[in-house]
Amino acid sequence: MTRHISKFHPAHPVVAPFATAGMLALALTLSGCGGDGATSSSSSSSTSSSSSSSGGTTTTAKLSDLMVSSELLTPVTTKSCTLSDGTSSTCYSFQVDEMPNAHSIGPWCPTSDAAPGGYFVDDVANLKNPSGKDEEVQVTVAWLKTLDSRLGWSIVNADGSVNITTDAELDKIATQEVNNWTYAQAETSGIVNHCIQAAPTAKTMTIEIPATPKVASSNTAVTSLPGAGIALDGILLFPPEPVARITAFRNLAPLDSYGGHTGFAYDYHYHRARDVPGVPDAKTKIYGFMFDGFPVYGATEPDGSAAGTLDNCQGHSTTALGYHYHSSNSFPYTTVCVTGAVASSMKRTG
Ligand SMILES: [Zn+2]
Ligand SMILES: [Zn+2]
Repeated sequence: MTRHISKFHPAHPVVAPFATAGMLALALTLSGCGGDGATSSSSSSSTSSSSSSSGGTTTTAKLSDLMVSSELLTPVTTKSCTLSDGTSSTCYSFQVDEMPNAHSIGPWCPTSDAAPGGYFVDDVANLKNPSGKDEEVQVTVAWLKTLDSRLGWSIVNADGSVNITTDAELDKIATQEVNNWTYAQAETSGIVNHCIQAAPTAKTMTIEIPATPKVASSNTAVTSLPGAGIALDGILLFPPEPVARITAFRNLAPLDSYGGHTGFAYDYHYHRARDVPGVPDAKTKIYGFMFDGFPVYGATEPDGSAAGTLDNCQGHSTTALGYHYHSSNSFPYTTVCVTGAVASSMKRTG
């Protein structure tokens, strides 16, 4: 059994720029896993909480020291930039290809009992998990059969085969999800009762992140950004996947064991902060940086102690670390907003 799909894993960064700015705008617009309206409304307009008033807003963590250089297309440099609050600042700038070099990707969808897929949250709200809990489960053929029987779906066929999207069908999925089709519409013209997967393609993205982060007067919902931040291995960190929008069409979009999968722009991104090669000890140490420049740690403080009370964006300030975010082992896993000003160049479209 091949546990991981390796053929999509380039030995070296592959630069495949978008052909036109228009394509880039379209691709970013369609990278719908980041466009989860269900999680953004509660935080998009709230002001930052007490996090900014105690412990200061400085951070000792330097992005330029921590990014894994072998995963970057260009070294981290600094440049002048304008922030989302209109002020001039200095930003780190570097390019990534949105593909991991240190680990393979997948699997996502199971093909047989002997070849299980990735992981998906078996939740109460959308999948009627009889345990009454939201729990991440491995997507196996057996679990899909359970789901089919529980919900009246038909992802697994009578012969035991699983309906799995082809790469090209991801565009249809994007169309029906982004345009809020009804299930009936998708049943006629789209894709229903499928396990969603597609091979990502390498692409070049320029990341600009404030070198001296500062808390802004209001939070920024990450739905307006191309992701929420970046892991140290150069993969974009996304907010939680929009489960309701996916399962409305009786589809699933599993994550691999690193918490990653392919978005509508055929981009590989993470929805979880997990240990990955080159990013040691993500459970406690810095895993990446949000686009406002503040670091994101694991679910606990670096010494293993509980993270304590967090603000709406899963951040707080401590004397030792300044302002920082935490990932979590349950929803929302990664943050749904950023507290600080972001580089005005970091936009989803344009
Ligand atoms: Zn996603
Ligand atoms: Zn903390």
